[in-house]
Amino acid sequence: MIKRTLAQLAEMCGGTLCDAAAYGETLVEGVYTDSRKRAVGSLFIPLVGERFDGHEFVPTCLETGAAAALWQKDHGTAPEGAIILVEDTLLALQTLASAYLKKSRASVVGITGSNGKTTTKDIVDAVLSTTYKVHKTQGNFNNHIGLPLTVLSMNEDTEIIILEMGMSGRGEIEVLSKIAQPDVAIITNIGESHLLQLGSRLEIARAKVEIAAGMKPSGVLIYNGDEPLIAQVLAEPSTIQPNNMQRVTFGLQTDNDDYPTGIMNAPSGVVFTSKQSGEAAYTLPLLGTHNVVNCLAALAVARHFEVKSEQIAEGLSRLKLTGMRIEVLQSSSGLTILNDAYNASPTSMKAAVDVLEGLRGYRFKVAVLGDMLELGPQEKELHYGIGAYVTPDKMDMVLTYGSLAASIAEGAKQHMPAEAVLAFDNKEELTRYLMEKLQPKDVVLFKASRGMKLEDVVEALKIAP
Ligand code: ATP
Ligand code: MG
Repeated sequence: MIKRTLAQLAEMCGGTLCDAAAYGETLVEGVYTDSRKRAVGSLFIPLVGERFDGHEFVPTCLETGAAAALWQKDHGTAPEGAIILVEDTLLALQTLASAYLKKSRASVVGITGSNGKTTTKDIVDAVLSTTYKVHKTQGNFNNHIGLPLTVLSMNEDTEIIILEMGMSGRGEIEVLSKIAQPDVAIITNIGESHLLQLGSRLEIARAKVEIAAGMKPSGVLIYNGDEPLIAQVLAEPSTIQPNNMQRVTFGLQTDNDDYPTGIMNAPSGVVFTSKQSGEAAYTLPLLGTHNVVNCLAALAVARHFEVKSEQIAEGLSRLKLTGMRIEVLQSSSGLTILNDAYNASPTSMKAAVDVLEGLRGYRFKVAVLGDMLELGPQEKELHYGIGAYVTPDKMDMVLTYGSLAASIAEGAKQHMPAEAVLAFDNKEELTRYLMEKLQPKDVVLFKASRGMKLEDVVEALKIAP
């Protein structure tokens, strides 16, 4: 993590150290924003939120071991001690991260997109770590606070830092990209998440393409070429991007720079070859064609950093994902559970349905699909469309949970037998039904927005006799 004197930190974040004579040479290691952390010897950064104001905790943090704290000038008189005065603590956090990154030797990989950011980040990490010292976003720390904190937690000897960039509206990715200044950036895809805030898929594409705005002059943009909106936005005169930016496309279509030339499903994942990988077949220990596509983006990054093919294969074999996205679980009774209850949008729900439909060798296949939240005025149609998307002869049953998901059931009923489609609005009833219905050798998929807490049902089924 960052290690600097207070005088240096004050300069890097554009602030003023209150008692420079007394504290200028004090060495500080790391920064934190959560006052409960009690990070001894670190810099506490009080952020101003809707419900909390971190400034309240500054005195306690200084008493319990913080080496120093920032203080926003409009918050009255700062307490005595090692204080750096700034105009805005959030901006100071971001400025500090940006300054730290600029002076470091680390190359930066930025990843945005509607779905698959964290998965792609984990794959990029797995393949690059075979050859480089890599630091990456932990969990989903991908916003205007999480990203700078990720940067500042990086060790000085890091060679490549991988940063996930999330957003909920226009302008946010641009801020993140300008802090990070990526050498390489990925846009995984354009989906429908945040349709409510942004209004159209074109606006979503514009929001993602903002990642080009902060790129280094000769940066490489790796994007999903199956999505015409990305190229369309890149061609718009108002799009900010470096003049010398290189473009690399990936996807399923054969007009991309890289695309799969063969995909074989194996019980533990997929084996695939791609145009760029030539003879080399890679084994990806994940389910679903969408994950092969995520992997192609990661392979483009690996090639950019000249990672050898054998190293890539080895990295993929050691891949560990950040919890709860298509997790394959076996219940104590022998039932197979595909747990993808972490989040959902139409694109990712269709991808999960594809995974379930593609599985062979099970007695009975059931999809439990819950509400997808925050989709805006088209929410009903988008839910209905999922039901219509299900392939009847590849799926035995569709159960829905929630009032929006009831439209999935309606869509499914258009082409599935009525008894194969049931809509629930009570989680206990759903759980009870599944416990009675399911047997060993069955497979059940769970997918919904996180707010629906479908993981409760997963937990109950896991231990059911
Ligand atoms: P978040 O916005 O929550 O950070 P994310 O972009 O990081 O999401 P992941 O966490 O990697 O995405 O995956 C979220 C969901 O999207 C998973 O349920 C996964 O099945 C699905 N998914 C992953 N990659 C793709 C893809 N390329 N296309 C469609 N769906 C995908
Ligand atoms: Mg994520």
